[in-house]
Amino acid sequence: MATKTIFRRIIDREIPATIVFEDEHCLAFQDVNPQAPTHVLVIPKKDIPSLAALQPADHAVVGHLLMVISRLAADLQLDRGFRVVCNSGPEAGQTVEHLHFHLLGGRPMLWPPG
Ligand code: AMP
Repeated sequence: MATKTIFRRIIDREIPATIVFEDEHCLAFQDVNPQAPTHVLVIPKKDIPSLAALQPADHAVVGHLLMVISRLAADLQLDRGFRVVCNSGPEAGQTVEHLHFHLLGGRPMLWPPG
């Protein structure tokens, strides 16, 4: 069997995380190295390596992730704004090969990103 990613191990409760939301299709938890006062990772429970690897069958789950992010941003009171980041591939800085969206907020954001 292929080696599990760290996020698969979090889904399977093999390593701890501070979970802020969970349902049948996704999990949201605090980033261990936060880059903003709010920094939550939202991931599918399905093993999808990256945005680049999306298949047509993933349409619904990706839509669901964005709906969850929108609701989380409201629940976390990010009413002044928030940023959603999805790094895909090594040049973009993806370090974990399990699709994940960063939800960042609680401070002003700069543009362009580094
Ligand atoms: P990326 O660089 O876009 O692949 O993002 C991976 C993110 O996962 C980074 O922001 C890391 O801080 C975060 N991360 C890595 N390991 C853990 C962990 N065990 N629990 C929570 N977040 C993690």
